[in-house]
Formats: sequence, structure tokens, C-alpha cells
Amino acid sequence: MAAQAEPEVWFLTGSQSMYGEDTLRQVAEQSRQIAALLDDSPHVPARVVWKPVLTTSADILKVCQDAAVQGVVGVIAWMHTFSPAKMWITGLDALRTPLLHLHTQANVQLPWGEIDMDFMNLNQAAHGDREFGFIQTRLGVARKTVAGHVTDPRVAARVGAWTRAAIGWSAMRSLRLARFGDNMRDVAVTEGDKVEAELRFGVSVNTYGVNDLVLAVDQVAEAQIDDLVKEYDDTFRVAAELRPGGDRHDSLRYAARIELGLRTFLEAGGFRAFTTNFEDLGGLRQLPGIAVQRLMADGYGFGGEGDWKTSVLVHTVKAMSAGAQGGTSFMEDYTYDLTPGEELILGAHMLEVCPTIAADVPNVEIHPLGIGGREDPVRLVFDAEPGPAVVLGLADMGERFRLVANEVDVVPPPQPLPRLPVARAVWRPRPHLAGSAEAWITAGAPHHTVLSQAVGVEELHDLAEMARTELVVIDADTTPRRFADELRWNQAYYRLARGF
Ligand code: MN
Repeated sequence: MAAQAEPEVWFLTGSQSMYGEDTLRQVAEQSRQIAALLDDSPHVPARVVWKPVLTTSADILKVCQDAAVQGVVGVIAWMHTFSPAKMWITGLDALRTPLLHLHTQANVQLPWGEIDMDFMNLNQAAHGDREFGFIQTRLGVARKTVAGHVTDPRVAARVGAWTRAAIGWSAMRSLRLARFGDNMRDVAVTEGDKVEAELRFGVSVNTYGVNDLVLAVDQVAEAQIDDLVKEYDDTFRVAAELRPGGDRHDSLRYAARIELGLRTFLEAGGFRAFTTNFEDLGGLRQLPGIAVQRLMADGYGFGGEGDWKTSVLVHTVKAMSAGAQGGTSFMEDYTYDLTPGEELILGAHMLEVCPTIAADVPNVEIHPLGIGGREDPVRLVFDAEPGPAVVLGLADMGERFRLVANEVDVVPPPQPLPRLPVARAVWRPRPHLAGSAEAWITAGAPHHTVLSQAVGVEELHDLAEMARTELVVIDADTTPRRFADELRWNQAYYRLARGF
């Protein structure tokens, strides 16, 4: 399956031949208009391509197979008239592309004074789509159902959320991830089953010797470094000691060398995600800081300490959010402010926070790093942009994966942080810190996460459906007892579902 330059969604319309040519012409005309409305919608970040009306089992099977061959990210299906659903069995059974069932109709209002039986036979999605719903449920087809007229912005937004999830799913299915070194020694939650990950998510995760990367870093030409250092200077506020002529300019040049070498290595191998581990840096003189931050800003997934699962999520969520407002970063719950009634989480990492979430132009700084035993690394330092966000984690429960999401509100730091030498985000989790932390910890969810201001829970829910992977959500309505019950029910469900 080839990934498409511009993501494409196919619009499929079901009907049957018994209504005659005139009716089918109208079905074609009106379904074309519905597809065009979605195609033009600013909520839907893909081309929506109308396909000829489907009236036979053979045509339905073919279009479902073609969707996979042509790398279409998703298909939308609508039964404008009645489309006897046994025609859809072999097609839906063969479908490997995410499905959205759009339950809509051509008209908004009924022309009450003019309705005759021709109108009734043309506009019967109200029961045609229920017939289609039955066969999807009967076959156990994973899909999203959206009801309403496409001119309703809520309908277009829900289709758009699913489209973003489908784009993320497509990116995940073709993702190649390079790990430089293994996991941090003795850490449990960053471990995981890479075979199951490739089966479930399609992602290929493999380890490379750090010194293979060092070779690429050492081969970078000085002239390339000159250009990149200038780019840093044009893009960020570079500390005086790091600028040309400054005492520590050589450290900035070495950081730029790492970025160029890393970029070359990843591009040559077709990798869109990677991990590092401060315990295993081979011949690297600095732990990659600004290099990782800028690669993340370009859409690469990243996880620290060998955390490939979070790296996969970072890239996937970034792919989902292409063209959307707001950034997405690797993140770690670091420390709390437990002031009663004003509890906050301060999130950060040793270095590697993505500047797409920055509130202002980042500073380029150099400071010592207490671990890793290498030279001081160069990093971007900034505060995160305030606003609603979602924090997402992926845990390997041994027999399957579990996604956990928390709706949060990023806030400005209550006071400046002049002595903290790393980029950070401060947020108030919903429903509140205790409720969020108790639920998160009960779920066994990780300390490494993705923080995104570009996608919300609906997009993540749609992605989890496509991956047939558990997603539990912690939001304003979460209570610890109900949440613990949900985990128990899910545990039973997913154990049973494995056998189906
Ligand atoms: Mn970490």
C-alpha cells in the first residue's frame, strides 16, 4: 500500500437497481453533492472523492479491495436509497480501510406539501442506513457512525476528526522507527512487545548501534553546519555564549552536527520516529537536545530512554494533526504543585520537548546535564502555550496494549522559572490533579506521554477504534470508582474479544 501525498477518502453510495435509471441518476447527482460538501469543508483534511453508485455485490467488493491497493486512508459509506445489505457482506469482510458510516440525507427540510412515493423511494436513508448498520454490526466491522446533515458543522467536524484518525492510522501502519540503543536499564513501562506492535499497529521497530549514528554525525560537512547555525540564529533567541565568537560556540556547532547527522540517518532509512537513551551514547559528545526538538517539530516521533511506544504515538498524533492549530510533543509528568485548590502538573523532560507547543520564540541555551556523563547539551527552552490539550499514554499490559488519555488545560506558569534550564508545560488535569492522577495510576498508564493541543479525545477515540485497542479517557466527569469499574469491564471485554 502506497502512502498518498494528499490523503484521500472515498465516498461510497449504496443503492440498488430496482428503482430504475432515473432514480439512480438522481442518487448519483445528490451523492456527488454530499461528497463535494465534505471535500470543500475546512473540517475535513483530505480529498473526498466520489465513487459511482454501488448496486451489486461484485462492485462493492472491488471498491473495498481497490481502496486498500490505492492507499486510500478511509472510506465513507452512505445508503441514499435502500441498498439490501447482503450485497455488502463480501465487501465489508474484505475491507481493510477505516470505515465511516455517514447517516445523512440529501435534503434538510421535508417538502411536506409535495411528498409523493417517488420522493419517498429516493430519500430513504432513514431505513436504508439502518439495514447497513445491521450488517456492519452483524459482521463486527469497526467503524464510526455519524448522523446528521453534512451542512451541520458538527457533522463535518466529526467526519473531520475521523479523517484525522484515519490519516494517523495510515501513518502508523507504514511507520519505521529506529532505536539508538535499548531501553533505560530496569525501567518497566517503556518495555513492550514489538511483535504485537507490528501486528496491531503496523509499526516496524528496530534497534541500531549508536555508533552507526555517530558515523553519520562525524561525516557532516562544516559548510552544512555553518548554514544550520545561521538558521538557529534566524529562528530562535540564541544565548550570547553560543553565538559566533561566543565562548561556547563550538558546543552549538556540535549540536548542529548531531541534528544534521541524525536527519541524514533517519531520511536514508525511511524512519519517521526514533528513540535515544542517555545511558548509551557511544561516541556522541552530547545527549541530542535541540536536534531531537527540531526533528519532532518536523513531524518525527520521539521517545526518551528507548521509549519506542511513546515515539510511535508522537509521530502518529503529529500525522493526525497536520494543518491543525496547536502543537504536539513528547512529554513527561515531572513534578506537582499541590497548593490546595490550585494543583498543577509541571511537565518537561531532560531536554526533549517539541517547540511546536511553545508560547513564544524559544531560547537556545547550554547547561550541564547531571546524567549521561557527556558534555553539556544545547537545548531549546520555552514555556508551553496555554489552552486545552490532551495527554496520551500507551502501556503494554502483557496480553495487549492500553491507551489512556487525559483532558487537561495548559496554563501559564504561576511564576517565572528562571533557573529551570529545560522547556516545560504546566497544566491542570481534569477533573483535578488527585482524580486524574489516581485514575492514571490505576490504569497503569506511563509517565512518558504525548501532549497535544492539536487533536482531542474524539480523534483519539476514532484512532483506537481503527486499531481495535482499548482507550480509557480521564476527563471532567471521571470519578475513581467508576473509572476502576470501567477498567475491570474493559479487561473482561478485551480478553473475550481476543477469542472472536
Ligand atoms: Mn523520561
